[in-house]
Amino acid sequence: MEEKVKSELKKIFGFSQFRGNQEPIVDNLLKDRNTFVIMPTGAGKSLCYQLPAVVSEGTAIVISPLIALMKNQVDQLNAIGVNAHFLNSTLTKSESNRVKSEVLAGRTKLLYVAPESLTKEDNIEFLKSAKISFVAIDEAHCISEWGHDFRPEYRKIKSIVAQIAPELPIIALTATATPKVQQDIQRNLQMESADLFKSSFNRTNLFYEVRAKVKNETKKQLIKFIKSHKGKSGIIYCLSRKKVEEIADLLRVNQINAAPYHAGLESSVRMKNQDDFLNEEVDVIVATIAFGMGIDKPDVRYVIHYDVPKSLEGYYQETGRAGRDGLEGHCLMFYRYEDIVKLDKFNKDKAVTERENAKILLQEMAAYAETGVCRRKFILNYFGETLEEDCGYCDNCKRERETFEGLELLQTVLEAVKQTHERFGLDHLVNVIKGETNDYIESYKHDELPVYGKGKDETSKTWTSVIRQALVMNFLEKDIENYGVLKITPKGFDFLENPFEVDLYKDHDYEHEIQNEQTE
Ligand code: ADP
Ligand code: ZN
Repeated sequence: MEEKVKSELKKIFGFSQFRGNQEPIVDNLLKDRNTFVIMPTGAGKSLCYQLPAVVSEGTAIVISPLIALMKNQVDQLNAIGVNAHFLNSTLTKSESNRVKSEVLAGRTKLLYVAPESLTKEDNIEFLKSAKISFVAIDEAHCISEWGHDFRPEYRKIKSIVAQIAPELPIIALTATATPKVQQDIQRNLQMESADLFKSSFNRTNLFYEVRAKVKNETKKQLIKFIKSHKGKSGIIYCLSRKKVEEIADLLRVNQINAAPYHAGLESSVRMKNQDDFLNEEVDVIVATIAFGMGIDKPDVRYVIHYDVPKSLEGYYQETGRAGRDGLEGHCLMFYRYEDIVKLDKFNKDKAVTERENAKILLQEMAAYAETGVCRRKFILNYFGETLEEDCGYCDNCKRERETFEGLELLQTVLEAVKQTHERFGLDHLVNVIKGETNDYIESYKHDELPVYGKGKDETSKTWTSVIRQALVMNFLEKDIENYGVLKITPKGFDFLENPFEVDLYKDHDYEHEIQNEQTE
């Protein structure tokens, strides 16, 4: 089998070698083991199920969230001679019958389905009668309410797979999974014992930078930045269709070759703009987050966020489209807290927990933007990885940073966590340290703790920053079961036993910068 796998890799896909974890992943799946793959965008996830599908008997079901993406993949597979089809709402009755007969005849190697189609009763019946090799779940973070694009139908997948055939191996793949999302996915698919293949999220060729978003000033900076990357490909993300149009117009009047992309455009226009960008007839694409899924342009030299994204996961995925060829990729974000407030308001009609979750994701985003800590350290920590040394390749590492003595502050924070028995989140801990009074503090009698009010001379903002830095330093960690609750790590306990001098970094004060610029 191994021989066959290697030769098909070359013969069909044209690759002489596996990349990263691809080989052990393929092997694992071919042993009928449940497999969980976490790999950054562009690292080569598709091959992890496409190759096993080709060499296995029967049809692999691939669950994929976007119809456009599905068609793309199927076209690409057909082009290299692999028999693949999709089943979704765009097919006519006779087309879908034809697909079904191909599958039943055992000719189809991969069948792409949208989760909505999978849940249809007659499709389930049809799949029961087919010979299925395994099930691949692409963009598996859609299962989790803690992911950035939660899709409720994704949560039904497991029960349907169980109906189709018991014991079908599952491979779940995602480019973004915090430890919390990872746990959610595994639980929901009942594959806690799956073999996990997690690649590092460190994209060493990406430079991360955040700048204050100042009226008028930002547009000038944007144009200047793009002009300094003349002839290079770049993506600019904006939150609304209106903003996309506005910025695309602004760039064009400034002689920049830019085109808009958003869901409100005619699909023919959208397609043309995307193609023009891929073929380098257009340098800059100004887009909503609708752009980019499944797009594989290796030489995007920069990704600019004109507006702040809704989560760090979204941010990481979008910036991940820069520098896929391993060469320079500059990730620039314009930030002001007002945009966070605006995004939070958009969620006001959502159910309470959903809104609360979205708010926590937004707060993480704001914390990233405002941090003085190495950006790469911060992002990697969010994805459950630790970077020991500062990266030296982000705006914070590159600038003269203001520091403050952290020893006592960290001790106070750790004491607060310890004295409250590791059962509370950031806001409550700050209130205890500051000596605030509220119902929680009273009912838990936290005003009787030694640490209560110990930090009243510092601002809440400072305490919040210290706690976040304790997280990045791995003195504290988030409790996966009780998201938001902070616990002390062994490293944190060590520090309490044997404290040492630590410098902490002051957060950025963008609001101040924005005020100054605007009054000038
Ligand atoms: P992902 O789904 O993880 O974002 P893709 O599956 O789209 O990534 O793959 C990204 C790119 O890497 C594609 O252009 C693909 O052809 C290429 N690729 C995948 N595996 C290999 C390999 N073993 N050798 C060379 N190129 C590869
Ligand atoms: Zn850095």
